[in-house]
Order: sequence, then C-alpha cells, then structure tokens
Amino acid sequence: MRPPILYPLFAPVTNLSGIGPRIGKLLERLAGPLLVDLLWHLPTGIIDRRYQPKIADAQPGRIATLKVLVEKHLPSGPRLPYRIRARDETGVLELVYFHTQGDYLKRLLPVGEIRVVSGRLDLFHSVLQMAHPDHALTPEQAANLPPVEPVYPLTAGIQPRVLAKAIQAALVRAPDLPEWIDPALIQRESWPSWKPALAAAHAPQSEADLSPGTPSRRRLAYDELLANQITVSLVRQKQRKLPGRILAGDGQLRRKALAALSFSLTRSQDQAVREIFADMAANERMLRLLQGDVGSGKTVVALMAMLNAVEAGAQAGLMAPTEILARQHFATIEPLARAAGVTLALLTGRERGKPREEILSGLADGTIPLVLGTHALVQEGVIFHDLGLAVIDEQHRFGVEQRLELARKGRGVHTLVMTATPIPRTLMLTAYGDLDVSRLTEKPAGRKPVDTRVLPAERLEEVIAAVRRAIGNQAKVFWVCPLVEESEALDLAAAEERHRHLATIFPDRVGLVHGRMRGADKDRVMAGFAGSDLDILVATTVIEVGVDVPDATVMVIEHAERFGLAQLHQLRGRVGRGDKPATCLLLYQGPLGETAKARLKILRETEDGFRIAEEDLQLRGAGELLGTKQSGLPEFRLADLMEHQDLIQIARDDARLLLEKDPDLTSERGAAVKILLYLFERDAAARTVRSG
Ligand code: ADP
Ligand code: MG
Repeated sequence: MRPPILYPLFAPVTNLSGIGPRIGKLLERLAGPLLVDLLWHLPTGIIDRRYQPKIADAQPGRIATLKVLVEKHLPSGPRLPYRIRARDETGVLELVYFHTQGDYLKRLLPVGEIRVVSGRLDLFHSVLQMAHPDHALTPEQAANLPPVEPVYPLTAGIQPRVLAKAIQAALVRAPDLPEWIDPALIQRESWPSWKPALAAAHAPQSEADLSPGTPSRRRLAYDELLANQITVSLVRQKQRKLPGRILAGDGQLRRKALAALSFSLTRSQDQAVREIFADMAANERMLRLLQGDVGSGKTVVALMAMLNAVEAGAQAGLMAPTEILARQHFATIEPLARAAGVTLALLTGRERGKPREEILSGLADGTIPLVLGTHALVQEGVIFHDLGLAVIDEQHRFGVEQRLELARKGRGVHTLVMTATPIPRTLMLTAYGDLDVSRLTEKPAGRKPVDTRVLPAERLEEVIAAVRRAIGNQAKVFWVCPLVEESEALDLAAAEERHRHLATIFPDRVGLVHGRMRGADKDRVMAGFAGSDLDILVATTVIEVGVDVPDATVMVIEHAERFGLAQLHQLRGRVGRGDKPATCLLLYQGPLGETAKARLKILRETEDGFRIAEEDLQLRGAGELLGTKQSGLPEFRLADLMEHQDLIQIARDDARLLLEKDPDLTSERGAAVKILLYLFERDAAARTVRSG
C-alpha cells in the first residue's frame, strides 16, 4: 500500500483551490490527473523581468520591465486597437490593447499615474510598443514581481498563470522525503536532496538552469531511472526464482536443417546460436535479445534454437507481428523443417474451421512440435503439450505484455526476442534490465551496398524513367507510400492513386498491398511479386518490413521525410539481398528543414544500422526515435534517455547492488527506495517485496 507520507501528492489536481473540473480535465491531459503529475511538469523556458532599461535604450524584441508615466489614452476607432501613450524622462512608449474595454484600461492605467509595465517590446512605424503587457502594476505591487518566471508547456484553454499557480501549490504540498540515493553518489555529483531539487527545477533563474545537465534535473532524472531499474531488477529477480528447464538437444535435427541450407552460417550467427544454446542448457529461464540489422539472418538462428528445443523433447513457437511475416517465415522454414523431418504448422487469424482444429489438437497432444504464427498463437484456445521456447520476432511491434504472453503457455519457457532496431544497450536496460544480448554484426556474404539517393518529389518523372530502365533489366521494385496513423484513409487514397498512376505506365505489372486488405488478397499480390507476375509492388505501409524478396533491387520511398531513420533503414534493407546491385530512391516533399536534410543525408552516407540509430538519436532526441510504440522502451517524465544515458548504467549497478544486499528493502535506505517506487507509481513492483 502507498505510504501515507505520499498521500498529499496523490490527490487529484481538482483538490487545489481555483481548479475546477474543466481546468482539471485540461491539466489531466497536459500533465496527469494527480498533484504528483504537476511536479513532473518541468518548465521549458523562462521570462526574465530583470531587463529594466530606460525607454530610449530599450531594445525591441526583448521582454522588458519599464517604469512609466501614463500620459494619454489616445482616441481609437472601431477597428483600431486601443492605444495608451506613456513615457519616462528618455522617451515615449505606446501600450496597445486589442478587443479590450476602455473603462477597464482607464482603471488599470489612469492618466497621470506611475505604472510598472512588463512585456515584449516591438517597434511599429518606428514607435516603441508593448502589446498587452503581462503586468501593469503600481510601483508597490511591482516590488513583489518575481524577477524570473518559469514558462511551462501549455495546452489550449489553460492560462499560463493558472498552470504556474497550480504547480506552485503542488510544490508547497510536497513533503520532505527520506533519501533513497546512495550518499556517496549524492556527494560525488553534488546533488541536492529531493525537495530542494524539485523546487530548483521549477525556479530556473537563467536559460542554463533549464538544461538537463543541472544538478537538480540530473537528480530528478536519476530518481526516475532508479525507480525503473529497481522495478526491472525485481521482475528479473522474481523470474530467476522460477525454475527454468534444461533444453539441450543432440544436434540431429539441426544438422539435417543446416545441410539443406544453400549457405553456411556467418561467424556471428554461429556465435549467437552458441550463446542461445548455453542459455537453454542452463537451469534458468533464458531472456535473450537477438539484435541484427535487416537481412543479417536472424531467422536461421531462431530456427536453430527451435530445433534444439524440439530435439530436447519440447515444443517451440515463433510469433511474428503480421500475417505476411508469419507466412514468410513459414515459406523459409518449411523446407528446412521438412529436411529435418519435423512437423511444422502455421497458425494465424486466417486458419479456421477444420484445419485450425487439427493444428490446435496437434499442439495440445504434442504431435506438432514446431509452430509459427501471429498473435493468434496466444489466444485462449491455444494449448501446448509442452512449450519450451518462445521466439518473438520484430519485438517492437508488440507491447510488453504481448511479448511475454507466449511464454505463459508453458512452464519455465525460454524466450528469445528478435529485433532489427539497433537500440543501444544502455537504453535496452530501461525496458528489460539485465537482458542478455546477442548481436549479428556482419551481413551474409555477397551483399552489395545499396546506392541511396535523395530527390525532391518534383523529380517523379526521372524516378519513373529509372524504374523503367531497372525493370528492363529484370529488376523488381518496391514502391512505398507512408501510412500516417492520423489519416489512414487519406494515405490509403494516395497509395491507390499512385498505384493507378503507375499501372497506366506499366500495365498489368503493378500490385498494391495495404493493411486493410484481406489476408488472401495480400498473399496473392505478394506471391505475384515474389514470382514473375508483377514488377512493382506499391505498399502503403511499413507493416511488411520483414518481407524477403531476394531479387528486388529498387526501393522507392515517397514522403521519406515522414519516416523515422530506423524505419527508412529497415525498408531499404528489403533490397540488395541478392547478388545484384540495388538502389534506394528517397523522395521528399520540400521544403525541408535543416534537421530533416541532415537525417536523409545520413542514410545516403551509411548502411550501418547502429550508426544510423545513434545519429537519429542525436538529431531528434530520444523521445521521438524511441517512442514507446516503435521501440518498446518505457517513457520517462524526468529522464531524457539521450541526455541522461550515463545515469542509466549507474542506476542499474546501484539497483543490483542494493537488491543483493537488501532484497526485501528492509534497511533504512531500502524503506526509502520503497517510497521512491510508490512515488513513481511502481506499486506492483513495490508490492512484490515482502513487507518488513
Ligand atoms: P532478418 O535478420 O532481416 O530477419 P532473414 O533471416 O530474413 O534476415 O535473412 C535474410 C536473407 O539472408 C534470407 O534470404 C536468408 O536466407 C539469407 N541468409 C541468412 N543467413 C545467411 C548466410 N549465412 N549466408 C547467406 N545468406 C543468408
Ligand atoms: Mg526477419
């Protein structure tokens, strides 16, 4: 249960005076429903009212605070703004108000009185103006004006001052909390304790105080990362306590499958296979990530792991995020399974009726040892005789729960997660804690680099001419139109339009696949493209990211500026898999900003997925590249995964050490850490430790 010391912070924002249900709703959308959420809503700017020049010296464009004598309310017409002339001994300033009652202004700024006005200065027809001053105060009132005000991210309908007041009120209610950070670390980093850190983060005195590198902000980020690392460590600790199972096959099936391959494994494939076998042979549940760029050959590695499980008498399942990918895996694996003499089934939403019944009964009685499928595999009716290994492909398309669902279909199931997203290891820690990682670092032999070009959309004619030449040389062309979730219908229409357009130029040779098509129709088109019926495949979507058509050599991507770099890189990885040179044409809709230009340039320069991810991280920040949806990483309120990367590692070591010494969090520091867990709403994790 949540410790009482935190109760004040877990009250709804509507508990604050002046915050009714309407503003409450807006605050909830902006920051969250509770006072604690307001604490995490940090300022992104400042208003500095310390600039107090004489009128003659005042620079237009700056925020200034000026002491003036109100001289005259100027006559105004019906559609003209209300203007007031004011002055000091050096010059004249006009105060300008739109749609404001004159009566009100006469009370606010009476002629002949001294007032302190503060706001942004402009020059209009060489007259210095201040439109709608933020403040118009008597000199006595102005004495209480804070010299620097924080500026918070806002949402429509909330006044800046209402938000700032609510946050101040939340800060006042923040209790003093016991220290959960290791004192040695506090000292080394010169961090303030929790409450002062929070107060300082909300009271920036300069632009520099807004940087993620200030001691206060780093401390708050560390709090959040520590809560995260304690949580993932607790989960792993619990998982480790569950009995694992030893799966060590004799290699018979694997040997047969390998013999049926037309190639031999690369060194890093070999290495990954060995690491996986070692895990499976140990008396602990495996949780291993197989990370490898598109085309690095993860599927064969997974197959070796699955056959190892089957040799040891267990079942193995592989779950792919889309039906197309599941079928693709089936097409690749089926001949190999056959060579090994292993029964293989495919289970997706499309298997129904009798065939489905047969698969289900085969899985239940163990006569089907190997199964591939979509999330249909984790439906309730699916029961395994003895599942020993769960493989999850392209993990970023699954949520955390879904990822672990397949493993729940058996006892002590080993899990292998495969991804092409080259997330740095430290960031991976935030999602899984100590996840073991195998990496495929080399491409299978014979791969040619992809010639990548960036072109404005206006040069479509040239692109079509290039496509025509390529098709003349027996090439196959992927043509990708982006699917943006907010307007699926519009984007679909654009892809259909492009399909029609290309079909008039290349009659009968252009296919279209998109997410709304029925599975059987998709298959037909895919098969046509993989075979010899179609030369061009227009796809609306990146869901087909894992598709393997070895003789496709041209990739055209429209609106490349709308994609993440990692996505573009993955799409590009669809071509250049055979032995012929490949081309990728990135079409963009101008004008492009500097960042967008720099991003596309990186793709032209390198095919190294890790470098691309790092650069994207630099250019766009962790938030965008690593949005939860794409990466499967958790989202943070205070920590910036890019700026605070060093703290992740420290938090991980700290969490591990603490839990080793004090697994039930009963020491003084342990008790403080429990409060920390509740503070960051890790209630479930906090409850897993026995209460002392
Ligand atoms: P990904 O890692 O993107 O899932 P795949 O497993 O689909 O990659 O493999 C991509 C292609 O490379 C497939 O056609 C596969 O048969 C082939 N391949 C895999 N390993 C090797 C290898 N060691 N040598 C040559 N080709 C390989
Ligand atoms: Mg794959």
